[in-house]
Amino acid sequence: MTMPAPTPSFEINGNLFGEVPGVPVGMRFTGRQALHDARVHRGLMRGIAPMGASIVLSGGYEDDEDHGDTILYTGEGGRDANTGRQTADQLLTLGNLALAQSMERGWPVRVIRGHQHDATIRTGYRYDGLYRVASYWSERGPHGHLIWRFRMERISEPSSPAIQAGVSEPASGSHEPLRAQTMVSRIIRNTRVGDQVKEIHDYRCQVCSTRLETPAGPYAESCHIRPLGRPHNGPDTLANVLCLCPNCHVLLDDLAIWIDDDRMVQPYGKRLRVDPRHCIDVMHAQYQRALCDKR
Ligand SMILES: [Zn+2]
Repeated sequence: MTMPAPTPSFEINGNLFGEVPGVPVGMRFTGRQALHDARVHRGLMRGIAPMGASIVLSGGYEDDEDHGDTILYTGEGGRDANTGRQTADQLLTLGNLALAQSMERGWPVRVIRGHQHDATIRTGYRYDGLYRVASYWSERGPHGHLIWRFRMERISEPSSPAIQAGVSEPASGSHEPLRAQTMVSRIIRNTRVGDQVKEIHDYRCQVCSTRLETPAGPYAESCHIRPLGRPHNGPDTLANVLCLCPNCHVLLDDLAIWIDDDRMVQPYGKRLRVDPRHCIDVMHAQYQRALCDKR
């Protein structure tokens, strides 16, 4: 008896992120209205949906490069509405900013390909699964104008860094979908609690007080005190996470620092930054200390 896995998705301000219930990868849609109605891609004109929840590759953009598992997606703006040619610089605003924020937050992006982009689709649009924004940058295109580019990577791609960090369940036969599902669930699960802890601490590291600023906004990482997955089985709850800068995240994961019962970060002898909205369970700190051999 196997229970169906819960659909990994979440909603922010009416925007659905991740998988859309009842919409499997490969599902076809007749047009943009059908995509909109099914909540796969909101809006009828723009390539980037509100908050970057999805993108449509529609063949209109000369700079897009599609390699299947990776896509170099060109941002929006600066194009002539009639010819589609780049006639001005693109800015890191609106949809472009939303995709940049997707990377900082680790949010998944649904990718839809259209028949004008991919001739094998013949007609309409196809939902092609979840990708993540792996990096983004500005460059000058062959037309002489600045464009923003987004390197998108398929989340289910086994060689992606995310899956190496994921908790994959070895299984016989076709375990790939399960693996992908597990990883997507994990990314999204992390996102909810992670976003919460970052907001409470305003993206400031609870250990060293660093607050990193990027063009897409502040950046911080959520870090589980007692690790998730086997054999530690730490819970994905606020009581088991910290808001950390990447350096302190590595130090905690690699057992170089630990938190004592007085909320002091050792061996620094530094007080952990706390907030009344975020209570850490000392049991989880004790567990992590034991991993460090610092009982
Ligand atoms: Zn730090």
